[in-house]
Amino acid sequence: MAERMPSLFVGHGAPLLALDASLGEPLRRLGEELPRPRGILAVSAHWEDSPLTLGTTEPRELIYDFSGFPEALYRVRYPAPGAPWLADRVIGLLKDRAPMRSQRGLDHGVWTPLLHLYPTADVPLLQISMPRSDSSSELFELGRALAPLRDEGVLILGTGNVTHNLRKLDWQEDAATPQWAKEFDLWIADVLARRDWAALVEYPRRAPHLALAQPTDDHLRPLLVAAGAGSDGPVSFPIVGWEYGSLSRRSVQFG
Ligand code: ZN
Repeated sequence: MAERMPSLFVGHGAPLLALDASLGEPLRRLGEELPRPRGILAVSAHWEDSPLTLGTTEPRELIYDFSGFPEALYRVRYPAPGAPWLADRVIGLLKDRAPMRSQRGLDHGVWTPLLHLYPTADVPLLQISMPRSDSSSELFELGRALAPLRDEGVLILGTGNVTHNLRKLDWQEDAATPQWAKEFDLWIADVLARRDWAALVEYPRRAPHLALAQPTDDHLRPLLVAAGAGSDGPVSFPIVGWEYGSLSRRSVQFG
């Protein structure tokens, strides 16, 4: 019997996370505390596609979907095994949404946190796109439809950031966190802690400072999927804090 897994949302921040052991330390500890998953189904801010599409089921070259970073970042490898059995299972669970298969490799939203969460890269791994849709309830419902995987030992992993405004990043050490970022982050934390799913899916109308905190909101959307997958259990925040002033590191564990 596989152990029941939580669903998880992690803040992946800038790609440099991949090379930074101290930034990655809280993720490493979290990976050690969680039960060992049989597989991981990852949903990243960096992949939207319609119809829903599954990534490769074989180990492939990573996607280095950024530019202007140190050369060492382009040499990072994460040779996790593919998960063809998980792809079959996801297609079965989502048959109404008719997901497609593809050969797409992993984007940095997936491999940067996983380098720390599961550094040995030995858990079978599959990525699924987010739907191209403005509907936050559609994302939440997608998570709900995937929830049975948790009973089969699969970790559903959303990866983005609760706040994400690249124009407002402050690269100086000890950059102060602006009020708009704090208020948005705390609003999200509060609705999650109260498990107020109706408020969560209405964040475009109800959350404060949305235009500043999430100007394109792609980095918040994986949280909706993780929340849908974990909506029946307790919510905790294993990692909190800030990077570059306004980038929230908040991670959320459901279940
Ligand atoms: Zn990102």
